[in-house]
Formats: sequence, C-alpha cells, structure tokens
Amino acid sequence: MKSQVFDVHVRTLECSRCGAPIATGERGGEVTCAYCGVVNTVASRRAASGAGAKPSMAQEIARLSRLKAQLQHPVSGHAYDLARPPAGFSLELLRTPKGLEKAVQDLRGARSEAASPTSASAEQQRGLCWLALAVAGAYQAQSKPLEARAVLETALETLADEGHRHLVRCRLAIAAVHEGDLASAEGWLDECDPAPEVLELDSAYRDARARLASQRDDGAGILAAVGAQAGDIPFAKGTEAHATLLRIHGLELCGRAQEAYAALEDVGLLFAPQGAVVELQRGGLAPETTKRFVRHKAERELEQLGDSRAGLVRGPFQALVPALAALPLMAAVLMVPITVSRCTLDADPLLGVYGYALCPKVCEGCEGRARTVTVWHQTGPGEYSSDGAEYFCASDKNGVAEMTDEQLEEMSGRLSGASLNFVAVAGASYLLLMGLLFPLVPIRAGLRWWQDRAKLQWLDAEVQEAAQALGVAPPEPPLGTHKALGATLLFVLGAAGAAATLVGIGMAIG
Ligand SMILES: [Zn+2]
Repeated sequence: MKSQVFDVHVRTLECSRCGAPIATGERGGEVTCAYCGVVNTVASRRAASGAGAKPSMAQEIARLSRLKAQLQHPVSGHAYDLARPPAGFSLELLRTPKGLEKAVQDLRGARSEAASPTSASAEQQRGLCWLALAVAGAYQAQSKPLEARAVLETALETLADEGHRHLVRCRLAIAAVHEGDLASAEGWLDECDPAPEVLELDSAYRDARARLASQRDDGAGILAAVGAQAGDIPFAKGTEAHATLLRIHGLELCGRAQEAYAALEDVGLLFAPQGAVVELQRGGLAPETTKRFVRHKAERELEQLGDSRAGLVRGPFQALVPALAALPLMAAVLMVPITVSRCTLDADPLLGVYGYALCPKVCEGCEGRARTVTVWHQTGPGEYSSDGAEYFCASDKNGVAEMTDEQLEEMSGRLSGASLNFVAVAGASYLLLMGLLFPLVPIRAGLRWWQDRAKLQWLDAEVQEAAQALGVAPPEPPLGTHKALGATLLFVLGAAGAAATLVGIGMAIG
C-alpha cells in the first residue's frame, strides 16, 4: 500500500484560515484553499543546516561518546524531552474527539504565538512540537494521513528551533515509511542533520533510519542505525525498546541467527522476553528468530512437565518405593532423640525391649528388658563428663531389676557380668525402630498414591497437549518400577543387615 501523502517533493500545509490541507509544489508559491477560497502564500522548504554533511570517522566517534555522556548525565525536562506532555494534555486525552479538537485549537493558537520566534519561550516551542506530533499521531490513528501530513509540515514551517524541526522531519520520514513511500522517507531524512549533538534528536533520527532500512529488508542498514550490540549506541529513554526489536530483525536479516536469538533472550528489563516476542510478531520482525524462540520455550515447558510428572507415582506399587526408602532414614533420625534421652534422663524410650533378645546371651537367667543408666563424674566446678549410657540386663540374680536408678548408678562399676555392649544396643535399637516403623510403609504409600492421582491425570493431559502443539510424540512416563522397588528393598535390607552386623560385633567384643 503505497501512497503519495507524504511525498517529499510537494508541500502540504494547513490553510492559514480554515486549517484544511492545501498542496503546492516543492518550491511553494500561491495556492488557493479549495475549502475557504483564501489564497495562501507558501515559501519553499529549506533543509536543516547540517543536512548532507558527512562527519569524519573521528568526529563520529567523539560525537557518540558525547551522546553516551548525555545518557549517563541526563538534563531533566529539556526542550527536546517530549516524554512530558505540555500542561493540560495527555496522549489519552487526544484519543477522545473532544480532546483532539482542543489540541487542534491550542496548536493553532500556539502557532500564531510562535510566529514571532523571539517572544516564544523554549517551553512554548516544546509544547508546540509535542502538540503537532501528538495531533498528527491521532490523525494517523484515525486513518487521516493527509491531515497528519499538513499538521506536521505546518509545524515545520512554524517551529523556530532547528532541533524541533529535526524531530518533525524524522516523524515525516516514519510516516512516509508507514505509507510505503520509501523514496520520500529517504528524502525527509536527507533534509535532517545526520549527526545531531543531542541524544533525543540522534535517537529519533536512528529510529527513522532503522525503520526505513527494515522496510527495505536491509539488515546492514538497520544495524548501522541501531548498532549490532546493545549498548554500542546510546538511545534516549523510551526509544531503546523499539531499537532492540529492530536490532534483532537486522541481525536475522544479516544471517546472524545466533546473535539475533541471543539478543532476544537478552532483552532484559526492556520487556519480558514474552513481551518482545509479541511485539516482534506484531511488527512482522525477525520471524525466524521468534519462531525458534517460541519453539524452544515450548520444548522447555514440555521437558519441565515431563520432569514434574516423573516425580509422581503411577500406582500403589510404585508408591512403595519412596515409602520404603524413607524407612532406614526415619529410623536413623529417631536414634538421635532416643540417645539424648538415655544420656540425659536415664530414660529409654524403647523401654529396654532389646534386652529380650540380647540379655539371654550375656548372662544366665537374664531374660527381659534391659535398664539404662548414665554415670556422670564431676570434673570441675559445674563441669561433668560421662562415658555415655550403660546398659544392664535385669534379673533377680544380679538384683538389677529391683535397684533404683541411684543404686544402679552406684553399682554400675561392679555389674560387668550383666553389662550390654553399647554397639550391640545401638544396632538392636535401630532394628527395633525399623520394625516399629514398618507398618507406616503401606499407609504412607497409600496416601502418596491417593495424593498423586489427580495431579498425575492433570499432568498427563498437559504433557499430551504440549507435545501435540509441538507436533512431537509425548514423552513416555518413566517405567522400571520393579527395578526401583528392587533397589529400594536392597537399600532397606542393607541398612537392617548393617544394624544386625553391629549387634554381632557388639556381642562378640562383649
Ligand atoms: Zn481554507
């Protein structure tokens, strides 16, 4: 869709009386308004003073460095900062018919004031420029490019400052790109100073250049305007995001697919990566990079879904694996409070039950529970030490059964015949704990299976859907329940065997 509305070789302004668009040749002249009949005298358009001048490489490097300094030390609220609307206006307001009408009235009022440039303040000039660009934007949004053109070129006529005119020219170039009139866009840019000294002006020029190059599928041209790497070229606040999108497009056009992909991954704080993808797709930019990015993301998501699914149990049998595996660990953890209780309170949470198994092998006639006592020796004022808990078989023969804790403590040195080895006691206690905890295994397995069922159903559906969207076969759920169960059983038996070995060693060394 190519239109001549932004043709650089004609002059299109607003009629000085009624505001309707009037057109004449590049050189200007007298033109009668078709609406109100007033004769307007139009001068010929002049390019910027720096237009066409090509700075040397050294000058260009020095200029870039100066622009970077402006990014690091911004001057707030200066004449070219158009992020801030003039008092009483906002971009939202211009989207309403009433707001647009008010803006158009104000724009015409401001023009007559600015006609005497010496009396117009910098802020008035800035306001006029903001209004002209905003009103033109509103007209473009309403598909009224001719009105937009007339507003912009009239502003070019009225704005006293070369910098403001530069911003309007860049906008005219972008509008021409938008209308598909690339030669005119080039023409508008040719009338600009290609090496402005203010960051906002430079960014506006680069933005227009890059958009033009993008329409021409000229990757090198885009990269020349916005830089091949983020940070190569400073961009004024608010212009960096679009420059980044164009850079990704430029890199793709130049066949630098890896760099384009990395740049998309690295959009950082400008957008969330997803936001950049949406913007690129909306602008028809970097289609290959975007496609790859979206696909990689979907693949990662599928992988993550598969991983979460692998952590769920698929049946009561499989649920036994984690429940069984926890058994030796739970027993080991419980050994801690039991040992502490024996050492500090002379109390045995296991009630000496292991004595039924160990005592008959230690002393004759001893059968039944063992007793535990910990002897503490005072080693200094307020300091005590102990060799740990001691265990004794209780029978009527050695009298241990009838002793109080104090008596047992006193007698402990003379009861070696009834003493149980602490290593054997530890092993036996551990085995006892495993036995006590074993009934929990089926209960825990059942609970786990119950909990995982709904989640598994949902994840299976998600995996299926994600795989279908990618056009790949859904990953198989991990099998090998028998193998896992076998390994877990071996682990449990190993722990029990180790404990039994401790009992054996303990008994052997007495
Ligand atoms: Zn008129």
